[in-house]
Amino acid sequence: MTSHAGELPRLDMYIGGEWVKPASGEYFETVDPFTARPWAMVARGGAADADRAIQAAHKAFKEGPWGKMHPSERGKLIYRLGQLIEEHADALAEIEVRDNGRLLAEMQHQIRYIPKWFYYYAGLADKIEGVVHPCDKPALSFSRPEPLGVCVGIVPWNAPLLLLSLKAAPALAAGNTIVMKPAEYTSATALKLMELVEAAGFPPGVINVVTGFGKEAGEPLVTHPLTRHLGFTGSTATGAYLYSLAAKDVKRASLELGGKSPNIVFSDADIDNAVRGVVGGIFGAVGQTCIAGSRLLVQRGIHDQFVEKLAAFSKSARIGNPRDITTQIGPIANRMQYDKVLGYIDIARQEGAELVLGGKRPDIAECAEGFFIEPTIFTGVNNEMRIAREEVFGPVLSTIIFDEMEEAVEIANDSEFGLAAGVWTANMRQALRMSEMLEAGSVWVNTYRDISYTTPFGGYKKSGIGRENGVEGIREYLQTKAVWLST
Ligand code: NAD
Repeated sequence: MTSHAGELPRLDMYIGGEWVKPASGEYFETVDPFTARPWAMVARGGAADADRAIQAAHKAFKEGPWGKMHPSERGKLIYRLGQLIEEHADALAEIEVRDNGRLLAEMQHQIRYIPKWFYYYAGLADKIEGVVHPCDKPALSFSRPEPLGVCVGIVPWNAPLLLLSLKAAPALAAGNTIVMKPAEYTSATALKLMELVEAAGFPPGVINVVTGFGKEAGEPLVTHPLTRHLGFTGSTATGAYLYSLAAKDVKRASLELGGKSPNIVFSDADIDNAVRGVVGGIFGAVGQTCIAGSRLLVQRGIHDQFVEKLAAFSKSARIGNPRDITTQIGPIANRMQYDKVLGYIDIARQEGAELVLGGKRPDIAECAEGFFIEPTIFTGVNNEMRIAREEVFGPVLSTIIFDEMEEAVEIANDSEFGLAAGVWTANMRQALRMSEMLEAGSVWVNTYRDISYTTPFGGYKKSGIGRENGVEGIREYLQTKAVWLST
C-alpha cells in the first residue's frame, strides 16, 4: 500500500492481511542506483512490528483457515499467486530495476520464470505422503511429514523477488505460514507481491512482510520464540551469526550464503563458448550473484589467447541505463557495495595482480551519477591473494593459471566456499571426473549460472546448509512425526 509524503511515495508493511505503518513512525529512503537518488520511503520496521508479524503468522497457522485447509486448496492459492505474478511480471520487473539497478530485460526474463516455483510447489502441496514402517513390535507404526509452523525468510538485494519466492513457495506448500524481510535496499517488489497475495485471496497472516534493517527488523524475527524455521540468503558472516542465534533455541535453519566460484577452462574447450560463459558468469548482474564465477582458472597453453578474447569481448559490453534494452552492464545496486568493490580493486593492485581491463568508473556521460564500475579483469593472481579468497560481489574477475587437472581441482577446492563451479572442456570423462572432485553444490559443464525450480541448489562448506528447489526444497519446511498404534 502506497501513500505520498511530500514527493516520495511511502511504502507500508503487510502484516496479518493489513497494510501497517511502522511502530516507530519512521521511514527510510530507497535509492535508484542508476540516478543515485531516492525514489520512495520504506517503513522502518523494528521489534514491535516483527512481534506483530510473527503473532499474526502464528495465529494464521494455529487458528486460521490455513491450517485446516485441505492441501489441494492451499495448492490452488499458491498456483493463483503464480498466475498473478505472471500477469504482473512487467510491473514487478520495473520496480525491481528501480530498486536494485539490474537490467530491465534480465529482470523481465527472471520474473516471468518465478511463477514456475509457485506452480511446481502448488502441485506438490497434496503429494506430501507418510510411510508405514515394517514393525517388529505388536504395533502399527507410521510416520507423516508435518509443517513446522511460522517460518522466517530473510533475503539480500541482488534478486529480491526470486529469492523470496524460493522460500515462500515451498514453505507455504508444506502448510507453514511465513514472515519475510527483504533487504533494506530493495523492499518494493516484496510489497508489490503482497498486493498479489491479497488479490489471490490468502487468509490474513499466512504471508507477511516486515521491512527495515537487519539488526532492527530481521533479528527479532529470528529470535522470536514462536519462529520455527529460518530461511536465510545472504552473506556468510550474517548467516553464521543468525545460525548461532537460531541454535540457542534449537530452531531449524536453511542457509544460502556466499561464494568464490571457480570457472575452469581446459585447453580443449570450445574457446568462444567458454569466453561467453565466463563473461556471463562474472559480469552478468554486474557480478552481484552468489554464484558469480569470480575465479577463472585457465590451462596454461591457452591462457594468453583466452584472456585476450575475454578482454576484447568484455570491453565491447554496453554500459549504461538498465532500462535501455541494449544495455549489457548496469550499475552496482547500492553505494555501500560500490565502495566495497572499488576497495577490492585497490587491494588486488596492492597484492600485485595485473589489471588487464577496467578497474574504475566508466567515463561515459550516461553513467555520471549512478554506481557504475567497468568490467574488471586481473591476471597474475594466485590463490593466496585476498582477491582470490574473499567474495567481492561485483564485476571483478581474478585469473589463475593451472597445468594439470589435479592442480585445477586443488586450487578450486582451496576455498572456504563451495557454492558452484564451471568446467569447460570437450572431454566428457574429464568433465565427469571434475564433477566428482569439485567441492561445490552445483557443477556446470560447458554452461554456467543455470538454475531451475526442479534442481536442488545450495552450498558446500561455508556456502550454506540445506537445499532450495525441487523435492529437497520442500523437505526443509517439514518435520516427521512417528505414530505408534498398539495392535
Ligand atoms: P547480508 O548478509 O548483509 O544481508 C542479507 C539480509 O540479511 C538482508 O535482508 C539484511 O537486512 C539481513 N540482515 C543483516 N544483518 C542481520 C541481522 N543481524 N539479523 C537479521 N537479518 C540481518 O548480505 P548482502 O550483502 O545483502 O547480500 C550479499 C550476499 O548474499 C553475498 O554474500 C551473496 O553471495 C549472498 N547471496 C547468496 C545466495 C545463495 O543462494 N547462496 C544468493 C544471493 C546472494
